[in-house]
Amino acid sequence: MRLDGQRHWDEDEVVDVVVVGTGAGGAPLTAALARRGLSVVALEAGRNTEPGDHTPDEVLAPADINWMDDRISGGEVPTAFGPNNSGTGVGGSTLHWGAFTPRPSRHDLQLRTESGVGEDWPIDHDELTGYIEHVEHDVGVAGPEYYPWDPSRRYRMRPPARNASSDMMMRGTAALGITATDAPVGLTTEDRHQEHHGLRQACVSCGSCHQGCRNGAKVSMDTTYLPAAVAFGAEIRPEAFVHGIELDARGRVEAVVYHQGGRDHRQRTRSLVLAAGGVETPRLLLHTGLANSSGQVGRNFTAHGATQVWATFDESMRSYRGYPSSIITEDFVRPADADFAGGYLIQSLGVQPQTFATTLVRGGGLRGKALVDAMRDYPRMAGVGINAECLPSDRNRLELTDELDAHGVPRVRVTFSAGENEEAIERHAIRTMTAIVEAAGGTDVRVLARTAHTIGTARMGTEAGSSVVDRDGRSWDVPNLWVCDNSVFPSSVIANPALTIMALSLRTADRMLAEAPDGSGARGMAGAQA
Ligand SMILES: Cc1cc2nc3c(=O)[nH]c(=O)nc-3n(C[C@H](O)[C@H](O)[C@H](O)COP(=O)(O)OP(=O)(O)OC[C@H]3O[C@@H](n4cnc5c(N)ncnc54)[C@H](O)[C@@H]3O)c2cc1C
Ligand code: SF4
Repeated sequence: MRLDGQRHWDEDEVVDVVVVGTGAGGAPLTAALARRGLSVVALEAGRNTEPGDHTPDEVLAPADINWMDDRISGGEVPTAFGPNNSGTGVGGSTLHWGAFTPRPSRHDLQLRTESGVGEDWPIDHDELTGYIEHVEHDVGVAGPEYYPWDPSRRYRMRPPARNASSDMMMRGTAALGITATDAPVGLTTEDRHQEHHGLRQACVSCGSCHQGCRNGAKVSMDTTYLPAAVAFGAEIRPEAFVHGIELDARGRVEAVVYHQGGRDHRQRTRSLVLAAGGVETPRLLLHTGLANSSGQVGRNFTAHGATQVWATFDESMRSYRGYPSSIITEDFVRPADADFAGGYLIQSLGVQPQTFATTLVRGGGLRGKALVDAMRDYPRMAGVGINAECLPSDRNRLELTDELDAHGVPRVRVTFSAGENEEAIERHAIRTMTAIVEAAGGTDVRVLARTAHTIGTARMGTEAGSSVVDRDGRSWDVPNLWVCDNSVFPSSVIANPALTIMALSLRTADRMLAEAPDGSGARGMAGAQA
């Protein structure tokens, strides 16, 4: 994105807010605070790119927009990092996300109340939905005219063109009496003038969403909230890796230390927002020893169940074509015959060949000739996948190791194992997905086990003893430190997370602004805190 004309804040100047990370968590808040006149500096470890810089070549793309630094993964279901779940760059993981944007269900925010396990969210569903509608309006979300599981919804743009997997899923679900429809997706299906950015062209169904959208059709922070933030006076500093947080004598953040251009810098600030994602935010907190009086930083790492079921068809499918995930069913958010808490949603899939081969290895256990044979069928294969509830668990956690990265910050070890609930959901979902692909005419069914997303490692709650931040995202321990990303989710919820993260980001910005003692907005709030 264009950064050449942006406002520059001096490091010795005490800015109102420093935001670490420019993804779904950092960007909306940066824009909202800057719009109200705050001085905001966003520090981003990754590079700045233009949409045209992205390459559809999935062999080259990872180095560009994925967080590829080493992380150690353990447990019975080790999480795959890199392109599977961690982005970097100005725009964060929205540079490579799939832009599938279901909304969280009311039931999911009351999981403990309704099922006795998991956690309730300390946020009202109606309030969250208000922020979600705001985000959908700001960035442009396409969807069906009629949404069967929530007829009150209105999507302003028609859905994208369906690909062969989508047609297959519609066929299979129809044969089984399962309701399915075009999914809500964060992309433009008509040319859209995005204020402060310019033209975002209509989706051309190229299928390269995970390598970065070259024409700006897909919602990405660098073509939506971040240009707005810069227009309102925020400064974005790319390739700035934060590794230190300094407190004053009263225990409040007074500066952050970051590495950029071969040396350390120190930016003074009145408040700090961590939006570095579900792995880097807890890593920074553990490294600096902050905000952890509860001992909860790094705990409750959750990853959505994301298992896929593929089959081979007589006709050509060519799954690399078209927007990848255009069909959804929410019939299994709370299945009638469930022997588990929560549930799952199902989406149609599209996938590039190398990503598919990697999933065959990791999730299907294929090697050698079996892998090569399976890849021969790739042009005629199509599949569906889930996004499933994952309960928070104390034994699934992120910790620091003795190994240091290039900045001298300890690398993390993430330990993750599926519990009984996750396994029961998985069994149910595999049955359902197998039935769908077979009803659509598929044979030679392959189940590819996967998890996705990095959630819950600095969770919000109503009690300081069992959570890291309060219901607004503010640290219980350090009053001018806020967390605003994937890590604050108390439970995973079934919906894919980015839309909810953006909504929480706007909500946290409002909470920061509401602190102004004279009602003048967060400038007054930040001034009062100094
Ligand atoms: C392939 C793929 C497909 C996906 N598809 C979907 C989808 O269809 N729908 C959906 O809802 N979700 C999807 N997701 C997940 C979604 O993209 C993420 O959950 C979401 O974008 C995370 O937002 P975040 O703000 O928490 O973190 P991020 O977007 O990861 O932002 C964190 C940012 O902080 C920066 N950072 C980290 N540490 C530091 C530091 N120390 N100093 C400075 N900067 C730092 C990083 O470089 C990064 O830019 C997908 C993810 C992947 C990988
Ligand atoms: S399929 Fe559409 S949204 Fe995805 S990268 Fe291509 S043009 Fe962009």
